[in-house]
Amino acid sequence: MTPQDRGHMPDNTQTESRKLLSRLQTTLAEAGAGQERLDKIVRLIADSMGTEVCSIYLMRGDDTLELCATEGLAPEAVHVTRMRLGEGLVGKVAAKSRAINTANAPAERGFRYMPETGEERFSSFLGVPIQRLGERLGVLVVQSKDARVYSDDEIYALEVVAMVLAEMAELGAFVGEGPALSARHISQVMLRGVCAQEGAAMGHVYLHEPRVVVTNPVSDDPDAELVRLRDAVEQLRISVDQMLTHVPGNGGEQVDVLEAYRMFANSRGWMRRMEEDIARGLSAEAAVEKEQSAARARMETVPDAYLRERLQDLDDLSNKLLRLLTGQGADTGADMPDNPVLVARNIGPGELLEYGRALRAVVLEEGSVGSHAAIVARALAIPLVINAKRITVEALNGDAILVDGDQGIVHLRPEDAVASAFRDKVAMQAAAQERYASIRDKPAVTLCGTAISLNMNAGLMADLPSLPSSGADGVGLFRTELQFLTRARVPRRGELAALYARVMDAAGGKTVVFRTLDIGSDKVLPYMKRTEEPNPALGWRAIRVGLDKPGVMRMQLQALIRAANGRPLSVMFPFIAQFEEFTQARNHLLREMEKEAALGHTLPERLDIGAMLETPSLAFAPRQFFELADFISIGGNDLKQFFFAADRENERVRRRYDTLNVSFLTFLEQIVQRCDSTGTPLSFCGEDAGRPIEALCFAAMGLRSLSMRPASIGPVKSLLRRVDLGEVRSIINDARSSGAQSVRPAVIEWLRTQG
Ligand code: PEP
Ligand code: MG
Repeated sequence: MTPQDRGHMPDNTQTESRKLLSRLQTTLAEAGAGQERLDKIVRLIADSMGTEVCSIYLMRGDDTLELCATEGLAPEAVHVTRMRLGEGLVGKVAAKSRAINTANAPAERGFRYMPETGEERFSSFLGVPIQRLGERLGVLVVQSKDARVYSDDEIYALEVVAMVLAEMAELGAFVGEGPALSARHISQVMLRGVCAQEGAAMGHVYLHEPRVVVTNPVSDDPDAELVRLRDAVEQLRISVDQMLTHVPGNGGEQVDVLEAYRMFANSRGWMRRMEEDIARGLSAEAAVEKEQSAARARMETVPDAYLRERLQDLDDLSNKLLRLLTGQGADTGADMPDNPVLVARNIGPGELLEYGRALRAVVLEEGSVGSHAAIVARALAIPLVINAKRITVEALNGDAILVDGDQGIVHLRPEDAVASAFRDKVAMQAAAQERYASIRDKPAVTLCGTAISLNMNAGLMADLPSLPSSGADGVGLFRTELQFLTRARVPRRGELAALYARVMDAAGGKTVVFRTLDIGSDKVLPYMKRTEEPNPALGWRAIRVGLDKPGVMRMQLQALIRAANGRPLSVMFPFIAQFEEFTQARNHLLREMEKEAALGHTLPERLDIGAMLETPSLAFAPRQFFELADFISIGGNDLKQFFFAADRENERVRRRYDTLNVSFLTFLEQIVQRCDSTGTPLSFCGEDAGRPIEALCFAAMGLRSLSMRPASIGPVKSLLRRVDLGEVRSIINDARSSGAQSVRPAVIEWLRTQG
């Protein structure tokens, strides 16, 4: 039986526990340096629990524990005795986040004798973890000479004390002179994540969900705390029920999450454990946080993904409850600091769009390169680092932060030397952008006289101002799904027509290639019934959905025809894997043209209908496909993942295969040849088109049109204008015939010799 499963305690035990907490609070309230407080606390606990020893071990770095205060062990051992995580009984308590209770410690597996402490004289051992919201802070230990097993009540009391210590540590109660508990959230931290959108940014942390700080972990009025807890839980239940009634039809996943919330909000076990904690002397918010900490500790060890998600739900629900109890972060939290860098566990595309361009960068604890948030961050041109583990635990609102989106590195509270090196990097990038501005109106013509059309990718109305400033020839890919992803319902035809018309207006006569709705795989519409598929990237997505359920696609095509209102129109269908899919999609569009004409709408003066080549199969389609398509655009992100059978969202395998791999370049060359033989215009619109060396090699393989994020146009144009494609081609050919795996080293070496 764990202390949490225990039923109601006898009143006298509860009173004892409250007395201990109240003495602890008085001690903590007294003035004094951190070390002095720790020393008083260990004396007080040993005295209250009638044990000969009480010690506090605290984490030093990620994997070392240090004895920081003791009553009963040799005082010379303080700040000398250290052990690794998992080493000895203390190390085991910390590593497993679980109490160890034994009457004969020296006989216990893993016991490590530390002569400097003189602890072999003590037989019994009880150690509990000091942790806050899943973060390991240390271990609290009591020991006695006699061989006794500590009672459940004693374990429980020690756990509650450990929880209060963790809470007080968060508030900086042990910071001060001497090497006591190091100040939390004060020193520099560097976190390594994964790059999801390049760019460098400096600013201040703005937490999407601000941390709730519990300033009053102890209370001597359990009745009042119980009322506060019950009121808050009731409010929570009502708001979850209300949210459930407001979920749009087919709310799918959202309903699952809310149902899980409801289950927890009505859970007797959860409530009973918190009531217990309050009876023991904790405040209502400390009781909620204690449960939340336990859930987080479990989350680290549960292998089952479904259970982990439910624990995540419990964590979210606890945050809501803490906000209700403390009144903190009731709306969006703190005021936005200057140059805000959004820090969150994860974020939906709609929420990210609401913050919009005010943000300098985004750092997520979770996320993936192909996620909705990443697509939006890319569209907003905001540097994004994902998988930055522990960022939400380490960062506080307003902390200085440097985000290196190129390397996927984040520096929190950077030291001066790091900040100044970073400033140099940002200044260099700004200077480079200025240099690019000077060639903005010049064409991307190589030294050998080949013109390459450089276009930009877009997906939001807000992208369009970049068209003139980037020097793009047009919009080579307008991802229409962003409008769908960021709403709670399917947008209406009139809304879409107005938006598409504004996009065409903003393009000022330059071509905009509209790609029809590309959903499925990781792009799931919140209002669409979710179909569980074993391999969504290979599943019912993009044109497959459009052809099977053509209602939305037809509506979108009507909106595009109306938006053009006589102007030229370019439409591209995503993820075409065989000829027939293209003819069917094209026929839908032609039928809509006829219907619109019959309704009296003005038809576009010219209509170009293209296909995205994103699966290898289409490269081998019959000649008639290449003749029928008005243009083809290579969706390199998807094409590369299917060519190498390497998930674009799985960082481990994605990085394994170089885009400049000889096989992939040879494949691109074959596609160029097929298009050349029918005179079909071809472009490349995956992310790789925006990387200068990749762009150079694509041009050398015969591609004459590339589409990329606006910020990449300058660097790509600058490089293209300085090279002779014939020379690049011969470097690539030499590398290919030498049996090299990738042409990258040879091309980089050649560029180096060119200066
Ligand atoms: C691609 O796959 O390369 C592409 C441009 O489409 P998306 O990234 O939107 O799937
Ligand atoms: Mg694609």
